[in-house]
Amino acid sequence: MPAIPVGGLVPRAVEDAADIVVRNAKIHTGDARRLEAGALAIRDGVITVVGDDPDVAPVIGPSTVVVDALGRRVVPGLNDAHLHVIRGGLNYVLELRWDGVTSLRRALAMLREQAARTPRGQWVRVVGGWSAEQFAERRLPTPAELNEAAPDTPVFVLHLYQSAILNRAALRAVGYTRDTPDPKGGQIVRGRGGEPNGMLLAAPSALVLYSTLAKAPVLEGEDRATSTRHFLRELNRFGLTSAIDAAGGFQSFPENYATVTELAREGLLTLRIAYHLFPQTPGQELDDLTRWIETVRPGDGDAWLRLNGAGENLTWAAADFENFAEPRPELGSYEGEFEKAVRLLTEHGWGFRLHATYDETIRRDLAVFEKLAAEGLFPAGNRWLFDHAETVSRDSLDRIAALGGSLSVQNRLSFQGEVFTRRYGLGAAAEAPPIRAMLERGLTVAAGTDATRVSSYNPWVALHWLVSGRTVGGSAIRPPQNRVDRATALAMYTTAGAALTGEQDVKGVLRTGCYGDLAVLSEDYFTVPEPEIPSIESLLTVVGGRIVHAAAEYEGMDEELPPVSPGWSPVAHFGGYQASGRTCGAGARQAELLGEVVTESQLHHRWRVERGLADEHHQPFAPCFLL
Ligand SMILES: [Zn+2]
Repeated sequence: MPAIPVGGLVPRAVEDAADIVVRNAKIHTGDARRLEAGALAIRDGVITVVGDDPDVAPVIGPSTVVVDALGRRVVPGLNDAHLHVIRGGLNYVLELRWDGVTSLRRALAMLREQAARTPRGQWVRVVGGWSAEQFAERRLPTPAELNEAAPDTPVFVLHLYQSAILNRAALRAVGYTRDTPDPKGGQIVRGRGGEPNGMLLAAPSALVLYSTLAKAPVLEGEDRATSTRHFLRELNRFGLTSAIDAAGGFQSFPENYATVTELAREGLLTLRIAYHLFPQTPGQELDDLTRWIETVRPGDGDAWLRLNGAGENLTWAAADFENFAEPRPELGSYEGEFEKAVRLLTEHGWGFRLHATYDETIRRDLAVFEKLAAEGLFPAGNRWLFDHAETVSRDSLDRIAALGGSLSVQNRLSFQGEVFTRRYGLGAAAEAPPIRAMLERGLTVAAGTDATRVSSYNPWVALHWLVSGRTVGGSAIRPPQNRVDRATALAMYTTAGAALTGEQDVKGVLRTGCYGDLAVLSEDYFTVPEPEIPSIESLLTVVGGRIVHAAAEYEGMDEELPPVSPGWSPVAHFGGYQASGRTCGAGARQAELLGEVVTESQLHHRWRVERGLADEHHQPFAPCFLL
């Protein structure tokens, strides 16, 4: 691309010419030594100049790409510290995403349209990223509605870790009948005649949901790579440039890592990924960990793809399910195997992340860590952290700090805040998780989403939750004293994640010598009204000096991508996250959408009042403004 002389900057031959220059910008560097800047230059993937327009002028050569930010806000590339990005990539183009959809009516219309184009033998699947609370109707679809929308195509709709709804064709495809027994910790809901009615409940284990989904067809060959590339570009659309992968169920090493490894080898990743390894089979966890310790090491890889340790599960028996619609699960005795696993890791210099939702679990884990610490084994300088920690107590936070641990929090309560509040009350919800208490102790607290099967991957929804304490349904759950300011939230989404992978010297801030990872935002995150934060997108995303996403004035400047394959993929027709920002902002469409939502809200509000599900005086609002 030829250099464009703009703002009086005339390209000339220079030896150390930048590959890319961003100028006329409002840059939030994240670097305390120089928090604001107007321009920066990147060469060989690394930032070489941070300053103002006159400072970058000398490094603009004939082949330098000059981006005029038009006065827009630029931030360091975002880093989701807990994202199931590798698994998400392998499935992305097979999924119909309801992320950001504001009415059930629209969601069902998408489903109907997708079912019509889905070939025989394939499914329509909606796998997380949404909550009934985001719909104007405030409810789930019924099996009957799925049957009506898709009479012949199997449909699987996952709602959080709570339930799944299947249509008749899907029940046939998975072979569930009146004789199928309920799996352990799960329920196949039956009608009067004993036949499954299409509802599956996690009670409280989500295994029934995932093992059913695992019966659906998967992508093969080249389609896996294409799917992964499109997912990474979808993340780039929101300004993400890094993620820490949390592995996950049905995500085996090394098989399910082959696609991402191959893409890294070919230089085709557009998101930096640090990944963790997660034993898959109950009873064989120690065998898996031992095998991995013998064959790979944390830190293996490069700036794009690297191993960061074990987790988020170390042993299955220690995992508490975060289904807030059900009582907290009582875990059996798990300390024996768990201690062996942690001992093995710490003895071999491995760090780890550990899934733990409830303080009851965290206290038991800490007792094991403290026992090992007394032997001088823990933490031995390795990085380790708790994931989630929604109900962690202050006492446990002190113990985590004493052992040198960190935390990673996600906006799971953006999607489950209402159900959590109904079960545990406003007082507990106000502290779920106690973010300010974590930060006050000087702990590293990184933020993320836990996408793709519960939360959406949209980082701006998570940032909005951190700042406002509000759910996607608009309920203000965390009070001001447990919210953080915008700069702190952004730091949790940038520098804190870099610290969890030991990359704090090269990532998370815009400083000379750091990676050229940044996003030019559609709106100024620091000044936009709070309810509009979830609608922010990136207009230009740069990773390692490469333009990996470009929209609006920058359209066409990004690297090319092969088309979505297979062609019937929902992503080919709907894309991923259904951004409401643009539709909300555009005159006629806004009025139309508002009208639709208000009618729906009033209709369903009346329906709910009649059934005692809502009180008469509570006015429904238009979620269009909130998400
Ligand atoms: Zn988890």
